[in-house]
Amino acid sequence: MFLIDSVADMTGKRDRDSLEVTVASVLFELLGSRRLAFWRTVEQGGMRRLHLRAGLRAGQPVAVSAPEADFDELPALDSRPEFRACFESGAPLRLSDSNNDMFCHVYPVSDDHEVIGLLEVGHDAYLNDEQERLVGGMLRIYRNYLAILDYGEHDELTGLLNRKTFESSFERMLSQDALPDMPALDIEWVGRRGTADPYSQHWIAVIDIDFFKRINDRFGHLYGDEVLLLLARLMRSTFRTSDKLFRFGGEEFVVLLGRMTPAAVNAVLERLRTAVEAFNFPQVGRVTISIGYACVPSGDMPSSAFDRADEALYFAKQNGRNRIQSYEILLARGAVKQKLDHSGDVELF
Ligand code: GH3
Ligand code: MG
Ligand code: MG
Repeated sequence: MFLIDSVADMTGKRDRDSLEVTVASVLFELLGSRRLAFWRTVEQGGMRRLHLRAGLRAGQPVAVSAPEADFDELPALDSRPEFRACFESGAPLRLSDSNNDMFCHVYPVSDDHEVIGLLEVGHDAYLNDEQERLVGGMLRIYRNYLAILDYGEHDELTGLLNRKTFESSFERMLSQDALPDMPALDIEWVGRRGTADPYSQHWIAVIDIDFFKRINDRFGHLYGDEVLLLLARLMRSTFRTSDKLFRFGGEEFVVLLGRMTPAAVNAVLERLRTAVEAFNFPQVGRVTISIGYACVPSGDMPSSAFDRADEALYFAKQNGRNRIQSYEILLARGAVKQKLDHSGDVELF
């Protein structure tokens, strides 16, 4: 394959998962390596783990970590001292694997701000200068392209995903259920897949700041913006890295949550609500939020899922604010009426 074709392939990707698989596959092919792995680091509660975006070995299908692999099941960055050293220094490393008489390189993968992953190359000999330039060039293309994708997908103020990306994220979340399990031999690379509790489901939550207009009126838009920024930060530290966080516009936020039980989703949203309530916002002081959430069954439509959570939010607003409300509980209580799916055959109104 010509280099120019490879670059054209890479920049044809509109989502980062397939971009990473393409970068790894192209390098694997062009270098003729024995083993190549593209890792992203994920962080939760100060702990860093490794998520495999693409793992290649000759004659084997590309391995990837299950999107829903339990965070705790992923390999820890600390379990690979050479990875850790590369991650922390931001400089490439070479080592030899005497067990497999393989020569290995570890390259830091960076975005515009920091090291976000690692590229591991196992080869018959150390890469020569030309090959190293190829790796460096590919990683720079990856980084530039990532910046372009980020620019179009993220909200400028908070850095969360923007509304435009909601539908595709929603569809990707539901379609991940359909991924086949990875071959057993790749467990060491990818971590065990989270065991699906039969009661666990995907969820959507809509979060809205209470009386935000008053905050703007009293303290001005600049302080209002600061509240939005700090709320986004509290959200990031509350949810898992695999959950998708959006700023939908103004002071409204949406979260798509990976599989969890009703009790777990209730607990995590309640944790956010209390964290916001307890936070001392500069100048503004106390701010509260209301949250409506709903279960997302497979085959659900993005707009109807949003509408259900929004209806629960409306109920929370009408009933005192600074509270969370589940659509399913309202439905069971008869406090809301069952919504008909837009895609349903019967159109009554
Ligand atoms: P409620 O508790 O019912 O949600 O009351 P609220 O005042 O938060 O609700 P409302 O939707 O009436 O007001 C939202 C306000 O958010 C209106 C606007 O002044 C403010 N707002 C929207 N976008 C932004 C933004 O980007 N920055 C700032 N500072 N304010 C914004
Ligand atoms: Mg509001
Ligand atoms: Mg609002």
